[in-house]
Amino acid sequence: MSTLAPELAVGPAALPAADALDRALRTASPAEVIAAAVRTLGREKVALVSSFGTESAALLKVMADVDPAIPVVFLDTGWLFEETLAYRDTLIAALGLTDVRSIKPDEEALSRQDPDRELWFSDPDACCRIRKVEPLARALKPFAGWINGRKRFQGGARADIPVVEDDGVRLKFNPFANVSREEIEAIYTLGKLPPHPLVASGYQSVGCMPCSSRSAAGEDARDGRWRGRAKTECGIHTMKMS
Ligand code: SF4
Repeated sequence: MSTLAPELAVGPAALPAADALDRALRTASPAEVIAAAVRTLGREKVALVSSFGTESAALLKVMADVDPAIPVVFLDTGWLFEETLAYRDTLIAALGLTDVRSIKPDEEALSRQDPDRELWFSDPDACCRIRKVEPLARALKPFAGWINGRKRFQGGARADIPVVEDDGVRLKFNPFANVSREEIEAIYTLGKLPPHPLVASGYQSVGCMPCSSRSAAGEDARDGRWRGRAKTECGIHTMKMS
């Protein structure tokens, strides 16, 4: 198990440099990365952000084994599948998660900018901004760091993510940066984790209903997201934090 140098184990008032943490954790296991995040910032100051999608149970399982009381932020965009909401509740019970916070978009922003619920079609970046980016920015305000489940094998903008980075305001931990698809599958198998209900009907990646589609054989999982558009990310990983 890698251990942080003592000078890195400081509180949120004096956040350690992300690149120093990244160097210290570059070969650490996902559990070691999460444990280091908690040790460095304190449990109340770090949140895991989960979509409760098709691969989410693996990261939540690793987190629960470290500490099931780490806060989990879930963005309930108003466009999620019923199956995803049910899966959230299934995983809360199965993993014993004690602090899952379901965050909704601002009602006034919705009625002003998306009164007809068609913004996903006319301007998906604006839709993601009011339904995901702004709610997440608000939800993360009390935290000094956050944990997410991106992997390098997902390619695109994720192909070279570090294990620890700085989003401009907070430390951002990517415990699965180094892991392979096979290692994720092994976590599901060993942990006897239930699959997302929509996997059985062909969804390899699940987000909002209008922007998720089944994947064809040979496609990457995220090819089913925003199909037919240049968009590949919702913006929560590219937003400028405040
Ligand atoms: S994924 Fe689609 S429906 Fe969901 S917030 Fe983004 S544009 Fe809107």
